[in-house]
Amino acid sequence: VQTKEYSPLTEQTAIELAYQLELFPKEAELTAEEIGDGNLNYVFRIQANNGKKIIVKQALPYAKVVGESWPLTLHRATIEANALIKHGEFVPHLVPKVYHTDSVLAVTVMEDLSHLTISREGLINGESYPRLSEDIGQYLAHTLFHTSDYALHPFEKKKLVHSFHNPELCKITEDLVFTDPFFNSDTNDFEDTLQPLVEALWEDNELKLETAKLKKSFLTETEALVHGDLHTGSIFASDTTTKVIDPEFAYYGPIGFDIGQFIANLTFQAIVREEGNKQVIYDHIQNTWTTFESHFSDLWQTHSIDSYANVEGYLKFVLEKSFQDAVGFAGCELIRRTIGLAHVKDLDLISNDEKRIEAKKKTIQTGRKWIIERSSIQTIDQLINVLIESN
Ligand code: ADP
Ligand code: MG
Ligand code: MG
Ligand code: MG
Repeated sequence: VQTKEYSPLTEQTAIELAYQLELFPKEAELTAEEIGDGNLNYVFRIQANNGKKIIVKQALPYAKVVGESWPLTLHRATIEANALIKHGEFVPHLVPKVYHTDSVLAVTVMEDLSHLTISREGLINGESYPRLSEDIGQYLAHTLFHTSDYALHPFEKKKLVHSFHNPELCKITEDLVFTDPFFNSDTNDFEDTLQPLVEALWEDNELKLETAKLKKSFLTETEALVHGDLHTGSIFASDTTTKVIDPEFAYYGPIGFDIGQFIANLTFQAIVREEGNKQVIYDHIQNTWTTFESHFSDLWQTHSIDSYANVEGYLKFVLEKSFQDAVGFAGCELIRRTIGLAHVKDLDLISNDEKRIEAKKKTIQTGRKWIIERSSIQTIDQLINVLIESN
């Protein structure tokens, strides 16, 4: 059943949709609740009296941030559903099951994951999530390798590039991650006390030159299908399970992008945690990269169709390039989440003004260092040492 016309769902029409799709027995009594964060999309949880639950996520034709509203393509729902399905081919245990999609209604019906916690919330509450970096390292290796030219026939790969054409969502990243924080833009949002430090960034030609190069990679490198928004708020976790949601920003981009965003979001925790609780986060940062590297290398050895795959030094080159990009992209994420439009609770929830400003200064300085020094940071241990030195 595909709908003919778009209209925003209500709790009642979301329930009707669930009946129509025969996702519950006819006799089930259903209730619905909207549980989304309310900025871009509706997320309805529909529950039957026997306890069974599903999620209906619907894109809204506009984005709402701090009261402002601007139009935003509904096509992102199709991108999100297709990315979840594509990733499900490679790592079915790490993404929600998709039960139904409707491109006119901009709806994705999927597995309910409410028994898990959004990892940002859990990490802020001191959880350590022992599986998090292992699972995300595997997710990154499989989703990035299998959608790249190292694994796909060039026709198949270019078909995917075309079907994940996502200019409006990419523009948001181009502006909010790679541009606005580095200029005196209206979208920026930071405490007055940070003004001198932020003005120094805007006048820092070396930083801006290196950021321009990273933005160029994001704009032009069609290497693999990236998630595009892989922060800890897009990951459900428990001590035994990890699930990645919300790939509406998915597009063909550089391999280092998701890796860098995830590492940056772990880094907020490395910065805000008390001394004795930092190590578990450093270990996650290290394990994300080492797991990615070892699984990607195994896939390369066993599944690469590239004629150059066995040329001495080529895999090493690809990994080194991805690592350096990831360090730079992580730096951009650290800076934009501190002074740009979209903040993170890890930092903003620190109620003590002095401590919060101190953490934000560290975050900005670490971000700057990673962007500028990324070509001399060659291993994950070096990266962690750079972080520890300023932390
Ligand atoms: P947005 O794109 O608007 O950020 P998300 O996909 O991140 O939407 O979902 C917003 C919130 O809705 C999540 O933080 C989570 O609380 C809830 N949610 C989303 N997907 C699911 C799911 N499959 N199961 C349970 N809750 C979900
Ligand atoms: Mg709500
Ligand atoms: Mg989200
Ligand atoms: Mg989203």
